[in-house]
Amino acid sequence: MSLINKDFRKNERESNSHNHFRLRWALLAITGAGIGVVIASTNTNTESTVAADTLPAFETVATTSEELARESFSLSLPELQAQQKIIDDANNLAPKQWREFKVRPGDNLARLFKRANIKPQQLDEMMKSGDAVKTLTKIFPKDIIRVLSDDDGMLQALRYDIDHKSYLMVERENGALVAKTYNHQIETREASASGVIDSSLFLAAQDAGISQNIIMELANVFGWDIDFALDIRKGDTFTVLYEELFRNGEKISNGNILAAEFINAGKAYRAVRYTNPQTNRSEYFTPDGKSMRKAFLRSPVNFTRISSRFTVSRYHPVLHKFRSHKGVDYAAKRGTPIQAAGDGKVIFKGKKGGYGKVMIVQHGTKYTTLYAHLKTYNRKLRVGTKVKQGQTIAYVGSSGLATGPHLHYEFRVNGVHRNPLTVKLPISSPVPKRYLADFELTTTPVFSQLDLLARTQQVALADSQADNI
Ligand SMILES: [Zn+2]
Repeated sequence: MSLINKDFRKNERESNSHNHFRLRWALLAITGAGIGVVIASTNTNTESTVAADTLPAFETVATTSEELARESFSLSLPELQAQQKIIDDANNLAPKQWREFKVRPGDNLARLFKRANIKPQQLDEMMKSGDAVKTLTKIFPKDIIRVLSDDDGMLQALRYDIDHKSYLMVERENGALVAKTYNHQIETREASASGVIDSSLFLAAQDAGISQNIIMELANVFGWDIDFALDIRKGDTFTVLYEELFRNGEKISNGNILAAEFINAGKAYRAVRYTNPQTNRSEYFTPDGKSMRKAFLRSPVNFTRISSRFTVSRYHPVLHKFRSHKGVDYAAKRGTPIQAAGDGKVIFKGKKGGYGKVMIVQHGTKYTTLYAHLKTYNRKLRVGTKVKQGQTIAYVGSSGLATGPHLHYEFRVNGVHRNPLTVKLPISSPVPKRYLADFELTTTPVFSQLDLLARTQQVALADSQADNI
């Protein structure tokens, strides 16, 4: 008899894989920059995005079972036991008890079954109960496994939390064990936060209750346009609309940023999350459907500071004469990884006079990027090897004519040197034409909401400034 844990629709939005490089970069940039939020507020909109009528119909008949099924997500052990008692009583079955076992170091399922007094043959039967059960081959110490067995050492059910979104349930149905993965009912709520930058974004944002992930994600979204180490000004503001995920009314994590605005030095940047209906891939776009992502990273290294900018004429510290500097120097620790600024192909790897060890990457037909004074190269890369944006291609050093470890970075368009800090970077694919109408339809209300939030924030800011006078 299986009255609990019927299928639930997967409700959470698919979260995109995050680009860890960008995240790390943003973290470094933010902490290094020492910029901050003075006024920051968070607000949770209690309106749920999950309507009751979106839940699927249950296969079970009794109302009580349906209610039980609805409530059986992430139950505590006593709750699970109480629920079983209701089921056993209602069906005139001998009472069975759920028990909980913690995986120990060096443990395996056979040992765990032994501790639980379950017959060893039951393990074989369970391992044949369906593909879902394979998750149990990857258990770790401190994982919790709950079992329901009878006095004869027969396994009746087993429950294992895979992550905060899903769990494995093995149940005896018509005599045979059947394994299935269930998704918890995740309720998505909308929340918003806004702030004004003054002197330490990271800590002040945390003080104001804005989670680290959201700040990082925000830096990620705008990281192609705004250099969070160099461009941030006192008085910059941001507003972000994001998801919070709840399970059983309890917040388990933040979800995705839905839309955001960042006003940097008076210029407003806005972004919205949109999922391509065909590919189901979510990305951030400008209000007119252009990708926030650029084909190139603004900087190829987790730098601490820019030690020399692009100039037509400057005094060379080693050569002791004036000459132009056709790139940007990023002072960084020896050995700091250097990332490919964009997707491309290695076209040069070797020594080039005063540049020391150099790597040149070709991106499409128009662009090349050059990385000089390298300590070492990524050993796997040879001339002709394809590289991905963000991939480590080499490490910062001081080979050639260099006063200290730094990356000399050049950006060429059609063979002409351009300033990497100011060159207009090509953007990646916009919203496909056939989805523009859908994009408008789905993002217009989100932008209106963002407008409202940004306006409210401006009023609050004006008030606080009035108070200070
Ligand atoms: Zn240089």
